[in-house]
Amino acid sequence: MTTAQPQSDHSAKLMSGVALAKRVRDEAAAEVKRIQEATGVTPCLATVLVGDDAASVIYTQMKRKRCVEIGMLPKRIELPRESTTQQLVGEVERLAADPNVHGILVQHPVPAPIDKRAVFEAIPVEKDVDGVTSATLGRVILGLPALASCTPAGIMRLLDEYKVLLVGAHAVVIGRSPILGRPMASMLINAHATVTLCHSHTRNLAKIIGDADILIAAVGKPRFVQGDWIKKASVIVDAGYNKGNVGDVDFDQAIERASLITPVPGGVGPMTIATLMAQTAHAAALQLGVSA
Ligand code: NAP
Repeated sequence: MTTAQPQSDHSAKLMSGVALAKRVRDEAAAEVKRIQEATGVTPCLATVLVGDDAASVIYTQMKRKRCVEIGMLPKRIELPRESTTQQLVGEVERLAADPNVHGILVQHPVPAPIDKRAVFEAIPVEKDVDGVTSATLGRVILGLPALASCTPAGIMRLLDEYKVLLVGAHAVVIGRSPILGRPMASMLINAHATVTLCHSHTRNLAKIIGDADILIAAVGKPRFVQGDWIKKASVIVDAGYNKGNVGDVDFDQAIERASLITPVPGGVGPMTIATLMAQTAHAAALQLGVSA
């Protein structure tokens, strides 16, 4: 008779975003209710989609669905792929001037000829619930209150939930995009971590990763980070979301060495949308003068 080998149970190592995201959405729903009771106004998030990129269509649908679930109004703006920068900026300016719209999200990527930065900068900072403007990033860098970029803000909440010690820890961030790597590095610096920010020109990446107490992968390449690169007992946050529901970290290898790791899916992703909901409710409260 052969005895089955016991499977190693790694569930205690998982940093799940699913339950925490639900809690964040519940908090946002309570804030929406409070705003309605105080003012009679229902917070509204406008989602702007240019073209028909399949993933972007699904993302905007999901965001509108979450809005409805927590009692907010979704406003759907869809523009043709051939739209010009000027047309898109004009649309954002109309939403900026509309007192019934409290948050504006321009789904990215936008089609290549459009000047994405010009479009983002047309969003007033008080309605920048996705944290894409340079004014918002400046506030995040300085550690001022901000409607920060949702993915790094969601990751910070996840690290807090799992009581990850940031003070004095060496955190390595791979990726320097304005919506993910850069604000992430700033948030970690403001939380007193020592941060190394890596990108495509970084030399000796594996060696740097090997010294990380906390690793944030935001590269956009499936299973890019190898399990044997990571430091034993480190904390791994995989922000990557690639085709086939695969992250930027080789999860099966990495979980053997990590003390905590986010799964893909079910880690960072749910936190991003929940943070967007929370920030839209909060933006509405600020615009309508409803105090916390
Ligand atoms: P991005 O704008 O394409 O940035 C990728 C970054 O990775 C760049 O800074 C790039 O360096 C760096 N990089 C590329 N190849 C590298 C290499 N070989 N070694 C080291 N660094 C390298 O992507 P993003 O928008 O930040 O997104 C990153 C990932 O997060 C993607 O998988 C995306 O789908 C995912 N994401 C997930 C969520 C979520 O809610 N879960 C939200 C947003 C994004 P350079 O700057 O030198 O080019």
